[in-house]
Amino acid sequence: MSYSYEAPVSQALFDRASVVTPGGVNSPVRAFRAVGGTPRFMVSGDGPYLTDADGREYVDLVCSWGPMILGHSRPEVIEAVQAAVARGTSFGTPGEGEVALAEEIVGRVAPVEQVRLVSSGTEATMSAIRLARGFTGRAKIVKFAGCYHGHVDALLAAAGSGVATFGLPDTPGVTGAQAGDTVVLPYNDLQAVRDAFAAHPGEIACVITEASPGNMGVVPPGEGFNAGLKELCAANGALYISDEVMTGFRTSKAGWYGIDGVAPDLMTFGKVMGGGFPAAAFGGRADVMAHLAPAGPVYQAGTLSGNPVATAAGLAQLRLLDDAAYAKVDAVSAEIRGLVGDALGKEGVAHRVQTAGNMFSVFFTSDEVRDYEDAKRQEAFRFTAFFHSMLADGVYLPPSAFESWFVSTAHDDRAIERVAAALPAAARAAAEATGEGVRA
Ligand code: PLP
Repeated sequence: MSYSYEAPVSQALFDRASVVTPGGVNSPVRAFRAVGGTPRFMVSGDGPYLTDADGREYVDLVCSWGPMILGHSRPEVIEAVQAAVARGTSFGTPGEGEVALAEEIVGRVAPVEQVRLVSSGTEATMSAIRLARGFTGRAKIVKFAGCYHGHVDALLAAAGSGVATFGLPDTPGVTGAQAGDTVVLPYNDLQAVRDAFAAHPGEIACVITEASPGNMGVVPPGEGFNAGLKELCAANGALYISDEVMTGFRTSKAGWYGIDGVAPDLMTFGKVMGGGFPAAAFGGRADVMAHLAPAGPVYQAGTLSGNPVATAAGLAQLRLLDDAAYAKVDAVSAEIRGLVGDALGKEGVAHRVQTAGNMFSVFFTSDEVRDYEDAKRQEAFRFTAFFHSMLADGVYLPPSAFESWFVSTAHDDRAIERVAAALPAAARAAAEATGEGVRA
């Protein structure tokens, strides 16, 4: 099946949206700015497919940026949501659904002894950092360049070179004071972390890292990196926070922790645990979580936290995610990775498919990517050509060369065949791309 490039209905919707919403979207990467062209307005999803407002169907390799690990409109999840909605949509009181979801998380992820539910990954990381500061009585935090933890002010700090570099605000609106206690270090560099602790003795509250980064493309931690972070934090009285918003309940039943077994002091979750609804969480050591209000003095709250519809969706999704489901997602991921690598190899396109469990992304470089600087050295203009060819042939990829691709249990042979059919032309387009006329 071939698709014309134009998307007149999406374009009309985007024009309308741009009048009433900055940039026409409610989250920047959706706007296609990195690749150019018209963002597709989706109207429905079914299994591995999305259908846009122009009536075109796409194999979805974004899966709502991770949450839809069972594919779209999985009947058991939809039924759980419908049953919850029929009972009421928000009570502002405790409810059994949030207890059950918390029990499911605690049951799956051993380092999480207690958990607090929130509504977004951003809220989870923001709250975990506040708690770390409240628990330790220290101000500074360490993060890594290329790791994204949501749009928390203190975490929107630019990378600076050198150990003692304090973060500068990455965006107008974040003040020097908000970013000034953030130390930004190169990823996968334990010596830089050692040096930061030496430069700021007794001042660092926590080190926050993506359990396995997926926001600069997929850049897994090197052998012993997470274990080294844990050790350095413990030795220096700081907390080790593992951000599993992306990897949590996706890369295994217990997320990335289920793969590397390094127990953090605090962890953050989102995406998969909400079943496509706004639900997220942070949790960890009970003695640390005990500092959270109302048990302790560190304030944190939310009108819709533990929302009954969101928790019903998340619980239904998690309960379907058994060993067989993860085996299926892993197998789909391996198959698509293989197809992509073969197609690009045939066209002689320099590339690396990097993997973290079932998450993966394609870098247009032949060099290993170990940190953000490496990631930025790729020939991203080749991705732009590759992306648009895939889109035209009915495969929806993340509209940026710096994002993970996501698959689901619903990606069956037919969906994979459609990806395979689209790849040769896309690989050719990547090979022929020159970078001229590409919008940054
Ligand atoms: N942490 C990580 C690792 C993420 O990938 C994201 C979002 O992509 C966030 C935090 C922020 O989550 P949210 O977009 O739900 O605020």
